[in-house]
Amino acid sequence: MNAVLEVQGLHKQFKQGERTIAALQGVDLTLAPGELVAVMGASGSGKSTLLHCVAALTQPTAGQIRFQGGKDVASLTDAEATRFRRDEIGLVFQAFNLLPTLTVDENVQLPLLAAGRAPAAGQVDALLQRLGLGERRGHRPDALSGGEQQRVAIGRALITEPALILADEPTGSLDSVTGASIMKLLSELCREQQKTVLVVTHEAAVAQWADRVVVFKDGRNLAELREESAEALSVAYQRAVAGEGATP
Ligand code: ADP
Ligand code: MG
Repeated sequence: MNAVLEVQGLHKQFKQGERTIAALQGVDLTLAPGELVAVMGASGSGKSTLLHCVAALTQPTAGQIRFQGGKDVASLTDAEATRFRRDEIGLVFQAFNLLPTLTVDENVQLPLLAAGRAPAAGQVDALLQRLGLGERRGHRPDALSGGEQQRVAIGRALITEPALILADEPTGSLDSVTGASIMKLLSELCREQQKTVLVVTHEAAVAQWADRVVVFKDGRNLAELREESAEALSVAYQRAVAGEGATP
């Protein structure tokens, strides 16, 4: 079966005056259908840059990003990139980015409206019920808790039924209990709806929900971990970034 996402030899450099910042220095990453993969790394390790390249928001300096075996995401025209973001992927960020004047219902439907499409009968109802937002559909974002706002953002990411969800520190604005409920929801949706999910985070408590964890350091993937608990993952991660992970 085709990989949903295949990243090969990805490099990204930012020029800042005289200085060149190597944000990505040869990233390889393959996501099979239905996988929930976490990229875990310290602040500045290139996690957001990777996500932005995959979402065609940033042009990589070198390397390839193939989505569902199609053409390189980096070679899309602006119009194709816009369509790709709108129809093929769902994006979830730390800041929920909801429109404050729209209701829950309207925020969730926005990507469809932007595409000139109408939801299928019952689609919005079913999704809002599944997200635990059935009673909240007429509210505006400022009447919702942080966890509820992030569930609206997840609904907005899912409404177009994309194959791939990209999430950048999705629990970064939430307390740990609410954050865990958001990760639980993402992992359940991944399983129920056969979504492929890529989450980037610096937190073991978030990454532990993934099927596997790709450790990032200095813009490179360093190791791959599959630990049962956040504690075990945290220990294994520390070992990997300290360079102790490769002992035979
Ligand atoms: P992370 O998400 O892991 O914290 P980022 O991908 O945001 O890391 O950043 C990786 C590196 O690239 C950092 O050194 C950051 O300062 C730099 N960087 C990110 N975006 C830009 C940009 N637009 N211009 C210049 N440097 C950037
Ligand atoms: Mg980041």
